[in-house]
Amino acid sequence: MILQKETLSGGSADFPGYRPAYPVDLHCHTTRSDGADTPQQLIDHAADLGMKVIAITDHDIRPPKEIEIVNNTGADAPAGGTSDSAVSRKRVDAVDYARSRGLLLLRGIEISCETTVEDCHIVCFGCDWDDPFFDKLEREVVESKIRSYRELVRRLDADGMRMTWEEVLENGGNPIREDQVQKKMIFELMARKGYQPDWSAAKLLVKNSPAYQVLRQKPDPVSVIREIHRCGGIAIMAHPFLVNEPVRLPASTMEDRTDDGTGGTEEAGMPGNMTGPAAGTMTRAAYIDRLIEAGLDGIEACYPYTKTSYGGTMPPGDIEREIRGRYTDRVSIISGGSDYHADFKKGVKPEKARIIGEAGITMGYFENCALLQKVAARA
Ligand SMILES: [Zn+2]
Ligand SMILES: [Zn+2]
Repeated sequence: MILQKETLSGGSADFPGYRPAYPVDLHCHTTRSDGADTPQQLIDHAADLGMKVIAITDHDIRPPKEIEIVNNTGADAPAGGTSDSAVSRKRVDAVDYARSRGLLLLRGIEISCETTVEDCHIVCFGCDWDDPFFDKLEREVVESKIRSYRELVRRLDADGMRMTWEEVLENGGNPIREDQVQKKMIFELMARKGYQPDWSAAKLLVKNSPAYQVLRQKPDPVSVIREIHRCGGIAIMAHPFLVNEPVRLPASTMEDRTDDGTGGTEEAGMPGNMTGPAAGTMTRAAYIDRLIEAGLDGIEACYPYTKTSYGGTMPPGDIEREIRGRYTDRVSIISGGSDYHADFKKGVKPEKARIIGEAGITMGYFENCALLQKVAARA
């Protein structure tokens, strides 16, 4: 007999023995971007764990108004498959569904910014999601992905791995549209054509070759903050210590920003067309100062750095203290979130798998933060 989730008070069968450290998690992903939980599964997991507030903040895609709810009514269905008749699907309001599970759902987005900087991400809440800004953002993400994949195929072909974009779209007899291309399909084509033994070897080859790194165009965070405010929302910088130092900015961006006096210094060796006399480097702190001057509302302090690509040596607790010390008086929100991606479903080692509520903020802070209360009311 499988233990039913309902019998676990404040626990989840998927995270045995785990208790969240925080009841409010302002940074989570779903299958709408690169997470492995559907929105329903994220909400269900959070509810099972006894969370009070959860945010859906997928990469570069607006949060859903409605989500698909799958009810498996065939409780005694044999393992390994359920008949269609045992599964019912319906679309319901996402916030209402979360509320029915005892949760407040905040609908947000995490916008990848700054073409030449890893990883400047801005988490936004409380926007008018129908604003054309988001149509344009989503369209540009798709188009720039297509451009970068086409460029990768061109470079591979030029290096003797003869292939065309049309062959990528043929997808081994399962034709797809341009906007459906994933990088893996290019790796699969390399393998099908015999240039690599399999797709994962092809992936490694591309990953380890500087010549095959094609930058995707990303928006400038200063204009993103401005647009988010125009849409009625708030902007919070995610995982500030994942911004690699020194921060290198392209010449055109630097020229736009010379009036604030924190401009960069000399810089050589900028990639491709980013080289220019005004191109510069700066510290992470100076870079964050620019965002604060642009009106940044919050910054993420509590975050599981040791489970990410963070290359520094500071423990997460020290990072949190430093961010609180530096920015508490300079931004309205000191945020926190797990950056949950349902890693446990992706074969990530348990000690590296991010879990809902392992980072976040307290209920007291959430209830006393005027800006968060404002966006919560607009959820
Ligand atoms: Zn991020
Ligand atoms: Zn994230």
